[in-house]
Amino acid sequence: MISLARHSFLSLLLRRAERKVSALMETTMVNGGDFLVVDNMAGGGVEDVYGEDFATLDQLLTPWTASVASGYTLLRDPHHNKGLAFTEKERDAHYLRGLLPPAVLTQELQEKKLMHNLRQYQVPLQRYMAMMDLQERNERLFYKLLIDNVEELLPVVYTPTVGEACQKYGSIFRRPQGLYISLKEKGKILEVLKNWPERSVQVIVVTDGERILGLGDLGCQGMGIPVGKLSLYTALGGIRPSACLPVTIDVGTNNEKLLNDEFYIGLKQRRATGQEYAELLQEFMTAVKQSYGEKVLIQFEDFANHNAFELLAKYSSSHLVFNDDIQGTASVVLAGLIAALKLVGGALADHTFLFLGAGEAGTGIAELIALQISKETNAPIEETRKKIWLVDSKGLIVDSRKGSLQHFKKPWAHEHEPVKTLLDAVKAIKPTVLIGSSGVGKTFTKEVVEAMTSFNEKPLILALSNPTSQSECTAEQAYTWSEGKAIYASGSPFDPVEYNGKVFAPGQANNAYIFPGFGLGLIISGAIRVHDDMLLAASEALAAQVTEENFEKGLIYPPFSNIRKISAHIAAKVAAKAYELGLASHLPRPENLVKYAESCMYSPVYRNYR
Ligand code: NAD
Repeated sequence: MISLARHSFLSLLLRRAERKVSALMETTMVNGGDFLVVDNMAGGGVEDVYGEDFATLDQLLTPWTASVASGYTLLRDPHHNKGLAFTEKERDAHYLRGLLPPAVLTQELQEKKLMHNLRQYQVPLQRYMAMMDLQERNERLFYKLLIDNVEELLPVVYTPTVGEACQKYGSIFRRPQGLYISLKEKGKILEVLKNWPERSVQVIVVTDGERILGLGDLGCQGMGIPVGKLSLYTALGGIRPSACLPVTIDVGTNNEKLLNDEFYIGLKQRRATGQEYAELLQEFMTAVKQSYGEKVLIQFEDFANHNAFELLAKYSSSHLVFNDDIQGTASVVLAGLIAALKLVGGALADHTFLFLGAGEAGTGIAELIALQISKETNAPIEETRKKIWLVDSKGLIVDSRKGSLQHFKKPWAHEHEPVKTLLDAVKAIKPTVLIGSSGVGKTFTKEVVEAMTSFNEKPLILALSNPTSQSECTAEQAYTWSEGKAIYASGSPFDPVEYNGKVFAPGQANNAYIFPGFGLGLIISGAIRVHDDMLLAASEALAAQVTEENFEKGLIYPPFSNIRKISAHIAAKVAAKAYELGLASHLPRPENLVKYAESCMYSPVYRNYR
């Protein structure tokens, strides 16, 4: 047994030596000060390539920094456990003899077995729980499954299944994941962050649980969202798992059902608001920067829209912050629109856009479209906004409503007489592009789609609301009602549709196309702030990945199976923009950013233990 002080000091020396000896070797300590050397050649990972972002020396001394054990404990360490894939040599060297059955399996065989097991479950939540179990047992195998079977498993670890998982989070989670910061921790958040076992955190996904997907206030049970999002950061964007920190800020909940549930895992009080809320968030933001430095990316996720807009505005000049619901959505939808121009013709500036829903998604997308048109035409953004119209629950947003509009809707209050319904707005504005982002399903009726088709050769219809039941119209409805003319994409996935002997493949405007690559781009360039031009760069990079073959099927997004390659391209463009804007701190700029991004991506392939 080594003392804590010696352990910590050795950790420090070890870290220093490690960086000197080789950037591609990870050295960790085992029983009594022996070293377990992990051959990391196949592993890769951002940290390995360009070193760590050490914010404070204090973090280096955290006693948990080097804690890989051998034998029984090794099998229970999800970061290093390989289960039956430990070789004979490794079983001898690391005291595993007898602790495992005699068979030695390859990682591929383990994957095959687990996929077979997963497919036996009929209920999606059971698959989700099986995946969470695997993540807690064998992290690399979890990511190998997710990466190799991304199209099949994305809906399991993220939407729609993660929504149900959050609703039942209190009863399904086994070991707490992520960091819970509640009002009880006020004044102590810096200390709480030190309890997290990893030092070099690069991405934090944080929620306050107030608007979880379309499910409303789930309080502390919203933790499923940051956990799920970060597993996509790793699987799709190649960020090391140890660099990802899921956080739930618990300021209470207004969900009566949870407040009355004796098993509820969060604070049993109504939501703190106003100054109390702002102070806790301020303390969190300050503590994060103090602990992890200037370059840690903080992604806000599933905050109610008033807080989402405010937090983004407040912290975007002092922190590296990103809101996926606003900015990620905007970037992925803009990418779809840029790609769709190949099918519908013209430039963005030649089109007229009408939104149903003027919240985080709607106004975020609208603003990015206006910005892109402004860049393309050199027209001021105040002018380019006039090509974009929004309808909210009270009808078309027009100047006579300005006095009662929330601040984020005001830029869209153009001169027009009041219009109450979507159908009337479609007839009055005659948009070429119709985008649904209200969260209310079945709102693109037959009449609406027919009206769009009456004045457009190829109406572009994006039904973004989730889940599937809330979709504005289904793919089948869009193709049928437009007599096969619509270019259609949705928020939730739809199967291909056959209409008049032709097969149409609807695209999915999934945020997972953008945020993992976007985050990777920020990290590899050491960006210190997010700039709107980076979002535009990400959109263009994604649109450029749509091939002729995809267009022929009516697709405006590339297939998800290529997502790691897509992420590397997005990362490269985002990083290039960061360098161009003088916001990159990782110098000198690597010459080939795509290659560099790829080389930085975490690979889940097992490492060999010597
Ligand atoms: P939000 O709550 O911020 O905004 C919803 C807006 O719709 C509000 O302005 C509200 O006033 C308006 N609205 C509500 N009922 C309406 C009605 N009957 N008619 C017209 N407007 C109405 O929510 P959000 O974050 O903007 O998300 C909206 C929807 O978009 C959700 O269903 C979400 O799942 C979906 N979304 C999809 C993607 C994607 O496809 N990639 C990304 C983000 C959000």
